[in-house]
Amino acid sequence: MTSANTNPPSNFIHEIIDEDLKNGKNGGRINTRFPPEPNGYLHIGHAKSICLNFGTALKYKGICNLRFDDTNPSKEDVEYVDSIREDVKWLGFSWDEREYYASDYFEKLYGYAVELIQKGKAYVCDLNAEEIKEFRGKLTEPGKESPFRNRSPEENLDLFKKMRAGEFPDGSRILRAKIDMNSPNIHMRDPVIYRILRSTHHRTGDKWCIYPMYDFAHCISDAIEGITHSICTLEFEIHRPLYDWILDQISVPCHPQQIEFARLNLAYTVMSKRKLLQLVQEKLVSGWDDPRMPTIAGMRRRGYTPEAIRNFCETIGVTKFNSLTDMALLEHCVRDDLNKSAPRRLGVLRPLKLVIDNYPEGQTEMMDAVNNPEDPAAGTRKIPFSKILYIEKDDFREVPLKDYFRMAPGKEVRLRYGYLVTCTSFTKDPVTGEVTEIHCNYDPATRGGNTPDGRKVKGTIHWVSAGHAVSAEIRLYDRLLSVADASSEEGDFKSFLNPNSLEVLKGCKLEPELAKFAAGQMCQFERQGYFCADIDSKPGAPVFNRIVPLKDSWAKAEKGQTQKKK
Ligand code: ATP
Ligand code: MG
Repeated sequence: MTSANTNPPSNFIHEIIDEDLKNGKNGGRINTRFPPEPNGYLHIGHAKSICLNFGTALKYKGICNLRFDDTNPSKEDVEYVDSIREDVKWLGFSWDEREYYASDYFEKLYGYAVELIQKGKAYVCDLNAEEIKEFRGKLTEPGKESPFRNRSPEENLDLFKKMRAGEFPDGSRILRAKIDMNSPNIHMRDPVIYRILRSTHHRTGDKWCIYPMYDFAHCISDAIEGITHSICTLEFEIHRPLYDWILDQISVPCHPQQIEFARLNLAYTVMSKRKLLQLVQEKLVSGWDDPRMPTIAGMRRRGYTPEAIRNFCETIGVTKFNSLTDMALLEHCVRDDLNKSAPRRLGVLRPLKLVIDNYPEGQTEMMDAVNNPEDPAAGTRKIPFSKILYIEKDDFREVPLKDYFRMAPGKEVRLRYGYLVTCTSFTKDPVTGEVTEIHCNYDPATRGGNTPDGRKVKGTIHWVSAGHAVSAEIRLYDRLLSVADASSEEGDFKSFLNPNSLEVLKGCKLEPELAKFAAGQMCQFERQGYFCADIDSKPGAPVFNRIVPLKDSWAKAEKGQTQKKK
């Protein structure tokens, strides 16, 4: 595995940093953080944020912390913490010993809330959720002040202590920042900063029954860690005045700069942990690591490489404008990476029996096959050839069209690394009319697929020896959704799930060596795409995921011999 790029392409955030460095801001220090909430598995959107935060630290020889934003115990779990750690590591980034948790700061956060109260900048409010919403007003109309807004700091402190001590029921009181109910920015209208919630936290257990809200915990956690540039997605732009306001009121050691960038949106999938959780809980996918999921775990299982994902994140760049990125770009990055590294193998997805009538019964020849035309160092291997083979159903036509150069009655075709064969006859199922078996003769002078007399044979097809092949299950994946952007459609996103996102093929026939592939091992099945052995594989019964189909089949390998895909 190659390691992460220490000099990622520049973007507008790097320009801000360059300027800060020029001005000697933060003493030349660069400290970013990646702050996931452990309430689900990471997705490809998070990968963009990870590459940006860790990549920026690498570029400026700074540091990037991993911080779990674990302030909402009712939705969080250690399973998610563990998966996030694994995914960030797998993507190729390291946070050394800097693994932090907002929950580690609960005592400090409480202290800063007390400081706000003492300064008359926060108050305990007894309005219920509905009243708070009503008092907040609308974008176009100012809010109304809470009748509890002018409690004395002493009274507020006493009530806040009692909130912490568990003297009030859940939801009965909250702590609010005292800012401005007339602010045009709704987030500045006395936002809630603490709530009462009796929920066992995955790290602090039942120690706390009050929990800080995101806007309060996040900026202070950044400040406690000495973050210099707090990079987040655009929807937090409107929260920035609150981020700055809180830090300006309290005696924190530093004041990080929040910078927003556009989140990644990928077409034909969803990019929200809440929605992905629904798919998992309602068993619409096999789990967080279902290879159709846009999660890092799903992509890893499917066979996407960290290099491909990092390249993708660098290719899409970092901007201030929301847009929808085409899946084809991600697939291009995956192909680009696998093309260099994946060994080539032969595999027949939908087998059709081919009998070579004039080939000696019981004979096996070991043919030389190139492992990777992109990598001469990968060398060659031996694959068994015999009288009875399997070819792809698709590679035979009873009545060939004009441009069809594969197998058809009376036509000669090349068996890749094998011989040239000419189809003599075929049999059909009398009921279904389906072709069941093909007969042909081979030309012994064409071993290896060469034509000593220089005759041209346009078609080349792949095959495996029936007596040597291993049977496998192969899973083909298509887009998760049948619409590009479910958020712009009416109705529940689940009504747009693509019913054909998974196709399972059984009884596929592969080169014998593939029986030994370990889960996660990848190869290219020539003409078919890139495949990865799945964790469901059993000894002698491999299961493969198709990572991505090939775009242009053998166009290159066969130099000039047109292989038209239908
Ligand atoms: P989701 O909407 O999927 O639940 P989130 O923003 O709630 O995501 P967090 O765990 O808070 O999830 O995200 C951690 C970091 O990743 C945040 O800084 C967030 O801005 C960033 N992030 C989340 N989604 C994307 C995305 N699609 N593109 C880029 N960055 C993202
Ligand atoms: Mg979030």
